[in-house]
Amino acid sequence: MAVPKRRHSKTRRNKRRGQWKISAPTTVACSHCGEPKRLHRICPHCGHYKGEEVLLVKS
Ligand SMILES: [Zn+2]
Repeated sequence: MAVPKRRHSKTRRNKRRGQWKISAPTTVACSHCGEPKRLHRICPHCGHYKGEEVLLVKS
């Protein structure tokens, strides 16, 4: 199996890790209440999914 010949420097490792960033999850407007919700998830605001109420939300 191939083995790395030289260890990469801390600078090189840190530069690589400095590339990744956190991104906000994709949201769409709920078709029932219009609130932003995650894709393919039950709306946390009104409990609707695909035009049906599937979850009772305490308000
Ligand atoms: Zn909703």
